[in-house]
Amino acid sequence: MKKLEEMTREDVRKLADYKIFERGVEYFAEGHVIEPSVSGNKLMAEVEGSSYRNYRASVELANGQLECKCDCPYDWGTCKHVIALLLHWVKKKDDFEDLGHVAEKMEKMPREDLLKILRRFAKDEPQRFAEIVDLALVGEIADETKAPDFVKKAKNILRNGDDRRISDVVRRVSIIHEQALGRFKSNGANYAADQLFRIACAFLDAPWVCEDSKGEGIGLVSELLDDVRLIWMNHKISKKEILDETWKIINADTTLLTDSFDDFFESICKGEWERKIMRKPIIQRLIQLEELENRGRQYKSYRYEQTLHFARKFGYISQKGVYIQD
Ligand SMILES: [Zn+2]
Repeated sequence: MKKLEEMTREDVRKLADYKIFERGVEYFAEGHVIEPSVSGNKLMAEVEGSSYRNYRASVELANGQLECKCDCPYDWGTCKHVIALLLHWVKKKDDFEDLGHVAEKMEKMPREDLLKILRRFAKDEPQRFAEIVDLALVGEIADETKAPDFVKKAKNILRNGDDRRISDVVRRVSIIHEQALGRFKSNGANYAADQLFRIACAFLDAPWVCEDSKGEGIGLVSELLDDVRLIWMNHKISKKEILDETWKIINADTTLLTDSFDDFFESICKGEWERKIMRKPIIQRLIQLEELENRGRQYKSYRYEQTLHFARKFGYISQKGVYIQD
């Protein structure tokens, strides 16, 4: 396909499996596609979904390929919102507002009018406005010579976020995640690992973000920790502060994020250095937990099992259950 104008229903049909396509057809027929717009080779719209908010779907044609995006949680290919958007395009092109035209108009506007629009936007759509400012800052930050503190930005978003719009908060922090990762080349592995790790930790002070049913908050924390793990492995960094902090977090054992940090801890403790450093704290903790267990508890606690698991895995305990000295 060379042009979006040439797209047919059959082209749309091929993008998703039959069930999803049919749902897209229904969405289109029921008028779920709201305020569609076109800008060059890109289509955008809000699509009403079954949840309390609309989803933002877009499709871009680049080098003959369609790039479909949607901020709904569907992860297995093209979703029904994108299908509905494309069907709307195939059937009712006149409904699409031409944003290329709007951009042209804006270029000729006096500064005062542009500021008026921005103020209005900031007032009516504060979340989106903040998001766009974050995005616009990517370029600006890239020019700075000193390393920016993304942790502070993430903390701000988490502190001021609206708990009825968890998806928006998660999306904004994930932009910060990308920005921090983007500084990897210029500022080095240590800096990137430290920033990403501390952004993940910032979620500990905003537990409500991790309580969403879709698991988007916890998902983002896992992604952040996974990037730290990759940097840790591939660049042989060894940061004692990160090890210590993770150990502290998992032993507090009080949050929904304990699992994510447990996994992370195990995955960074692969090398000799990490295992040597953690030997003492892990064995001490195990003894402490064993004493607690022996005070007449009926069941083994999760923390006890987990600590025992680390001790075995890291080679601190022999087959017979005896602590091995170094
Ligand atoms: Zn979708």
